[in-house]
Amino acid sequence: MVLAELGGSISRALQQMRNATVVDEKVLNDCLNEINRALLQADVQFQLVRDMTRNNKNIVNFGDLPAGHNKRKIIQQAVFSELCKILDPGRPSFTPKRRETSVVMFVGLQGSGKTTTCTKYAYCHKQKGWNPALVCADTSRAGAFDQLKQNATKAKIPFFGSINYAESDPVKVAVDGVETFKKEKCDLIIVDTSGRHRQEAALFEEMRQVSEAIKPDLVIFVMDSSIGQAAFDQALAFTQSVAVGAVIVTKMDGHAKGGVQSSFTVMWEYTEVAATKSPVTFIGTGEHIDEFEVFDVKPFVSRLLGMGDWSGFMDKLNEVVLTDQQPELLQKLSQGKPTLRIMYELFQCILKMGPIGQGLSMLFGADFLPKGNEKEIRAKFNGYLTLMDSMTNEGNSNPKLMNQSRIMRIARGAGRRVHEVIELLEGYKRLANTSKNKSLMKGLNQMGGAGGLQNIIK
Ligand code: GDP
Repeated sequence: MVLAELGGSISRALQQMRNATVVDEKVLNDCLNEINRALLQADVQFQLVRDMTRNNKNIVNFGDLPAGHNKRKIIQQAVFSELCKILDPGRPSFTPKRRETSVVMFVGLQGSGKTTTCTKYAYCHKQKGWNPALVCADTSRAGAFDQLKQNATKAKIPFFGSINYAESDPVKVAVDGVETFKKEKCDLIIVDTSGRHRQEAALFEEMRQVSEAIKPDLVIFVMDSSIGQAAFDQALAFTQSVAVGAVIVTKMDGHAKGGVQSSFTVMWEYTEVAATKSPVTFIGTGEHIDEFEVFDVKPFVSRLLGMGDWSGFMDKLNEVVLTDQQPELLQKLSQGKPTLRIMYELFQCILKMGPIGQGLSMLFGADFLPKGNEKEIRAKFNGYLTLMDSMTNEGNSNPKLMNQSRIMRIARGAGRRVHEVIELLEGYKRLANTSKNKSLMKGLNQMGGAGGLQNIIK
């Protein structure tokens, strides 16, 4: 079950509960059973699901609830916070500090996406004004240095490695690389190490030696989201060899090479990675360098449940060239009454925000994401813009006044399908719902969006 499906199933269960005329114990049980089924199908451990249900029932104790309490809201909040609990190890990760040089060592299995992730991590910091550098200490895999060199060159990030593979000692390459970049005053030195399998004791020993020699400030364990049941053991094996401080889960896009859509959820993965007792700090969402996102539990669960992730969206928005228009757009949004015009502008921003799926799911929730690859999603999105043009041409840009014949006319006028108009109106409904939240909107207004989401969840 891919992530969007899990999110869709849970939000449908919650929606059914919200639609019930009377919310009683049966409705609660039905809702929780549906959620359990979805989580179990997504491979979340049985014990965790059972504990979560028990906690939810304790929070929503019908006998103790005084009359007049909004049971729907209490149930929804209980589910939300229990889902967050599953994902939160309760331990923050080390964050590199700008004024000092931080050395970050990457470890993980071969093929997990470690080398790709090293460059994504460097690039994402570079975008924020850091001066990162990459060191390839993987001397065991043929072509490892060439791969890193190619990625680093594309991203215009300095790199170091064993030229022509002349030096075969990974410890020496790592130490030389770190020293070189310390002299060059790089503030973030990222060291890629050899990929390995649990059984390979020698490689684990090598990893320990590299770690001892370069004394990294942070060791990041990179894990492929589709490795399945093996995750726990792998994570444990790495943790026993080096002091893992953070985890990056890759291939969260579910389109990873190797065929089938990955049948995992980050819930499950994360639970398994609990072996490292370290937080997931980023997720990889594609092969491209900017398909990489900060991972924060609350916004993530919020997005999973179709509630949108404004703080993530605004972070991304900050990265695009639109800085001039941004305050104006934020201001309009913060007034709490989004129009189709505002949605149009937001869609235009998303089109400029790099991988379009990211912006879309941040804003409208994971299950709103159209199916397909980046090109197909982009085409769909442009279709939405054409539809909105058609609505404006119709002299009717108020989504609330839409009826069947108008919807059909708009679709015809834009040369699009009726269901696309309906999807668009669903998107508008979500935007309107989110913007009803006064504290969120206030946060957006004050802070340009960053952290705004935390307010809704309180
Ligand atoms: P390494 O052996 O651990 O260094 O793995 P690589 O960095 O060489 O990555 C292995 C493969 O996974 C490559 O084809 C990458 O393009 C791909 N990859 C890495 N991260 C992601 C991701 O987040 N999504 C997808 N779809 N592919 C990824």
